[in-house]
Amino acid sequence: MTEHSAGRVLRHWSSPDDRPIEVTAAEGARVYDSSGTGYLDFISQLYCVNAGHGNSAITDAMADQLDRVQYVSSAKDNDTRSKLADAIADVAPDGLDSVYFAVSGSEANETAIQLAREYTGAKTILTRWRSYHGGTLATGGLTGDPAMRAPLEHHAAATGATKFLPPLDYRSPFDADTPEDLADQAADHLDYVIRNQGPDSIAAILTEPIAGTSGAYTAPPGYFEQVRELCDEYDILLISDEVITGFGRCGDWFGIQTEGVTPDMITFAKGVTSAYAPLAGVIANDALADFVRSDDTYLGQTFGGHPVACAAGLGAMDEYRDGLFANVSDLAPILEEGLRSLERYDAVGDVRGRGFLWAIEFTDPETGEPFIDPRVSDAHNPVDDVIAEAQDRGLLLGSGRPGFQIIISPPFCIDEADIDEAIETLDAAIKATFS
Ligand code: PLP
Repeated sequence: MTEHSAGRVLRHWSSPDDRPIEVTAAEGARVYDSSGTGYLDFISQLYCVNAGHGNSAITDAMADQLDRVQYVSSAKDNDTRSKLADAIADVAPDGLDSVYFAVSGSEANETAIQLAREYTGAKTILTRWRSYHGGTLATGGLTGDPAMRAPLEHHAAATGATKFLPPLDYRSPFDADTPEDLADQAADHLDYVIRNQGPDSIAAILTEPIAGTSGAYTAPPGYFEQVRELCDEYDILLISDEVITGFGRCGDWFGIQTEGVTPDMITFAKGVTSAYAPLAGVIANDALADFVRSDDTYLGQTFGGHPVACAAGLGAMDEYRDGLFANVSDLAPILEEGLRSLERYDAVGDVRGRGFLWAIEFTDPETGEPFIDPRVSDAHNPVDDVIAEAQDRGLLLGSGRPGFQIIISPPFCIDEADIDEAIETLDAAIKATFS
């Protein structure tokens, strides 16, 4: 049945061994396949259905918009679009007051780097190893993971991207004894990269404040302040990629707000509408917004800021304010405690994250290295088995990049019983895989 009905769809990120379920219905934190089997969706599909499935406040807002006006040119004004821009600017860091709407996270990042390049006259964008910034020709080259980057970069005319090391504290590229030391070492390394690249050639540093699919790693305290200082010292723009972390997944409206730093641009997508319709964008400071409004640049896309998507955005933001964010802050410590209880397995090397975005990294206790590092080996990866075992038991999880880690990213509407069920199921999946 599944194969027959889905046979003509070229699935994204697919490989021959995948056994995806066919989702035909969903409600709250659960999705159902065509045979009626339910799955607890602890990955919010693709880290994006933040409000959970079937939220009628959001679908009603979309239906109202459909009744009034279905599409308005992105070169014209629309009341719903303007209201959403106001609402986003209200919750963004001070000084980031204007919103350019796009359709996907990749396109938001492409717009941000285009703006940065035109505005500064420099070409290079610095991004981190162990990062993901999109699947289009330009953003693929910005991404740290070789499986995602190499096929795109190979064919891109010029990606103009150079990488720097992430401030990881597990299997770290640095040799730091304390988080403060790690922040200093990682910032010194970035300074080294900037000087050797040539500061005048660098338009922007583009970074996720908390890594998403590349492993939910947070930065040590003080790190982003030093990154901001380096940007100021060398006249480099700072762009926070909040495609996953934006709209409450890591606590604040935007992940960078927890770091106490104001970037020059924020890019967003996914959670802005709780994925009820495609919408993305760039929140820009005044200088960059003036640049977009001037005759010096000329940007646009047909579906950027689609009114029905903007209505979904307004509905989702209301729902986040009306209890869903409170639920995330109440339940995040319980989720963390449950995930940390899995550290008792020898194969669980590290548990890390913030809010409702977590990663578990699996490590061979004999070697202290991943069982399989998919960047350099095609051998069978037991971490894929954990995800498959969990799915067979009714729990959906995400695969990290590189795939020696899994990602947990539930919708904000879950309750404590859902967390208990997810941890129990994950526990059973780890046991079945490694013992
Ligand atoms: N940036 C980050 C941090 C992401 O996680 C993603 C997608 O997962 C993107 C950009 C690309 O977004 P999209 O898939 O909507 O193009």
